[in-house]
Amino acid sequence: MGTAIRSVEAIPVSYPEPNDHSRQRSVCLVRITSEDGAVGWGECCTYFPEATRAARAVVEGMAGLVVGQDALHTRRIWEALRLHSWWYGNGQGIASLAIAGIDIALWDLKGRILGARVLDLLGGPVRDRLPAVASIHATKASIEETCEEIAGYLEGGLQGVKVGFGKKGDANLGFDHDRDVRFVKMVRETIGPRKRLMIDLGIMNFWDVPTAIRRARAFEPYDLHWLEEPLGADDPEGYRALRAATALRLAYGEKEFGFRGVERIVATGTVDVVGLDPGRIEGITGFWRAAESVAAARRQANAHNFSTAIVAAASQALSFACPAARELELQPVYGPAQKDLVDRPVWHREGWVEMPEGPGLGIEINEDLVRRARLDR
Ligand SMILES: [Mg+2]
Repeated sequence: MGTAIRSVEAIPVSYPEPNDHSRQRSVCLVRITSEDGAVGWGECCTYFPEATRAARAVVEGMAGLVVGQDALHTRRIWEALRLHSWWYGNGQGIASLAIAGIDIALWDLKGRILGARVLDLLGGPVRDRLPAVASIHATKASIEETCEEIAGYLEGGLQGVKVGFGKKGDANLGFDHDRDVRFVKMVRETIGPRKRLMIDLGIMNFWDVPTAIRRARAFEPYDLHWLEEPLGADDPEGYRALRAATALRLAYGEKEFGFRGVERIVATGTVDVVGLDPGRIEGITGFWRAAESVAAARRQANAHNFSTAIVAAASQALSFACPAARELELQPVYGPAQKDLVDRPVWHREGWVEMPEGPGLGIEINEDLVRRARLDR
């Protein structure tokens, strides 16, 4: 049978990421080939080399359940992989990352076999275009220079900026109340009243509940589009208190590994914007299931699009297909994993992301670059 799966390859790669203070990032790519020779690509969004190597081992272990299956039966394979990892994953950790890479590759492959966009296989677009916003990490010591940097990113029409606090570099944001408020005030003055501004707390920040309430209230006059992970990923009681104390929209969820986790945080009533990463939350199938719960709860889903051009293409298709998604974040700094890995990287025109074109995820992979970036070369 031509649509049977012939092979599953796990390809660990490593590359510099200028959007993340030029640190060396790594992910595990997945390449799935059908008996007819059609190829689909996926990505396990692992970030760290040890996680990349672990995802590779799990993908290779799971390959036995994928090879020989019909490439069109994405849901059946997804269910089989989830069931298979009942002891070492059960909807968590490296197993979810591995399933993500396989599932994204399968959807891409299915689209190529059928000559259809993944977007159309998901039910088609629910909107014609998506607002594009920049997602950056603040790294400069000077607030003025950071404002200039942001103004530069928005020149091409991007409709807003999400700024990561508590990252590598010299920005030192998220640690001092007055400095943080001054930063938000100055960025708002720089970008004007109409652009979206989001603040995203990093794992170095460790705000407690009173700190988060005080900052959120002080940020309110500057009209944040949302405040992201002010209390990290797992603090339902803290988020309840914060939600009761501020009118700001609260965002978290990108660290969830599966739709069950998303259902749990949505049920708390404390999350307005749910971050979802298709390279982590068990692929396109997992993202879709989670985003449907988010839509049912009348909340926003937002793709955590901060990895390679493969996760970007999957995020683009999902964000056009899911009613709960309303915008798409882009990494504004040139980086090889975004711009050189594929022939048509997701980008915007005057602040709008347009629909993907072409079968599958609509991208052709630069296999030379993949070969050169291999972690195990
Ligand atoms: Mg975030």
